Amino acid sequence: MRVLLIEDEPRIRAFVARGLTAEGLLVDESVDGRAGLHRALEERYDLVILDLLLPALDGLSVLRALHEFRPELPVLVLSARSDLPTKLRGFELGATDYLPKPFSFEELLARVRVQLKRNGTPNEKNVVHAGGLALDLAARRAHLGEKITDLSAREFQLLRYLVEHAGEIVSRERLLSEVWGYHFDPCSNVVDVCIRRLRKKLGAHAPIETVRHAGYRVSAP
Ligand code: CA
Repeated sequence: MRVLLIEDEPRIRAFVARGLTAEGLLVDESVDGRAGLHRALEERYDLVILDLLLPALDGLSVLRALHEFRPELPVLVLSARSDLPTKLRGFELGATDYLPKPFSFEELLARVRVQLKRNGTPNEKNVVHAGGLALDLAARRAHLGEKITDLSAREFQLLRYLVEHAGEIVSRERLLSEVWGYHFDPCSNVVDVCIRRLRKKLGAHAPIETVRHAGYRVSAP
């Protein structure tokens, strides 16, 4: 289980990181809001622990962005601001839990456990794999080696269909029907155009194979 701790106060950061590491969690630390948000979006975490008063980008803005781009990712807010309006604002912006400072480590740990349990292993169940590709269903992104690619809704649906049917040759007609919802031939090359765009975005190692006169295939596994 990986946890990202975004906290600018060194003493609290060290105390929380040390405690959670001792409980067997992998803890990464960010010291300001901007770096923390960047890291949360670039890497895979099971939980974010977020302070609200942070340099560079305040915690509520981090929360809003996480909720938009990583709606599945639980966020436990730690804050010296324990007034009800701030708490409610936090929940409204997508916090899954809110712990006022000061807090005891035991209470933090209990709440972290609840969040991790509730969420199961989101990073696994929200990812489909094949042909070296990993598709992040929540973020609508494709990971191929080191490369991470943002896709449009249609590109993502098309690639997801191929990945979920990896190893099969999928015909253009089937893609038109399953991905576009066309049950007739629109006499256009929308599928080929979309495949071309996908290949361009994914780069030279895109694992989408053209099978002549038959369709397309992503190799399994
Ligand atoms: Ca702070």
